[in-house]
Amino acid sequence: MKNSFCPGSVTCQMRGNLHPEDAAVCRICFDGSGLITGQVCACRGSAGLVHARCLVHWAASRWPNLTFWRTCSICGQDYVGAARLSLAQALHSKVRWRPLQRHSYLWVRDWAVENLICTLHEVGKHEQVAQRAEQSAASFRKRGKLHHPRALRISTVLASSLRELGRYQDAVELQRQALSVQRRVLGSSHPDAINSSNNLACTLSMMGDQVDEGKREEAASLSRTSLRLMRKRAGEKHPDTLVAASNLAVLLQEDGRYEESAQVAKRTLDVQQRLLGPQHPDVLCTVNSLAAALHLQGKHAEAIEYQKETNDFMLWSTS
Ligand SMILES: [Zn+2]
Ligand SMILES: [Zn+2]
Repeated sequence: MKNSFCPGSVTCQMRGNLHPEDAAVCRICFDGSGLITGQVCACRGSAGLVHARCLVHWAASRWPNLTFWRTCSICGQDYVGAARLSLAQALHSKVRWRPLQRHSYLWVRDWAVENLICTLHEVGKHEQVAQRAEQSAASFRKRGKLHHPRALRISTVLASSLRELGRYQDAVELQRQALSVQRRVLGSSHPDAINSSNNLACTLSMMGDQVDEGKREEAASLSRTSLRLMRKRAGEKHPDTLVAASNLAVLLQEDGRYEESAQVAKRTLDVQQRLLGPQHPDVLCTVNSLAAALHLQGKHAEAIEYQKETNDFMLWSTS
């Protein structure tokens, strides 16, 4: 079984796994109690162990650079799960009551609000997304900036959360509105417009029997175009390209195009594993999608190999 045996700590570190004899301590303060459980970013082994409070102190020490409130300075990937949520909430609290006379503080507050809303969506707190997005829209409306790129991005995140809450029609309406403005103001090949196309495709594909053949074709076309444009614009490894590829794999599977879905998922998984490591939530998601596409083609042995590999890593990380 892959990675069930570890010949030594050097090999372990190269593989990115924590050796059982290594002390489990925070990478910043070296204390071992109260560490974040689960994946923090793409850092593996001892580099992936940290306290939420230490990440917050570290990010605050780099003020006014906001990058470290969302992105790990070691692996360069965005934080996930509890780490990302703690940082987003801490930053939002920090800037919430700052005076707004200075333009830069308004910009920072808007950044913090968008970051918190995206994070709440990522961790599945969709009711809170709806509440925060409404407050944010009221603020942009008051300033006469409802078509500001950030306001439109927040609107598309809200739409994605409404979709997760089963409110498909509301989600499609919001996504079409945002996409139309983004295409007109920013252009069709702008990353915001590409992401919105991708989100709309995702919603249409999830509506199943609620949409006709024409809408399903529209979803497939939007999804393929989004992936092509993201690859061309940002490259294979960009997070938005990987999201677009994962979405296309799921959409193809829902359309019954299992072979094509597996091809897209394999290519995505290859990049994600190299970039994010075997235990990252996005990797596990792609493995599940790929395994399902393989099972549906009757390729059970190959599907089980992929699933086994993931389970081995999960067992190893908790042992
Ligand atoms: Zn610490
Ligand atoms: Zn990292």
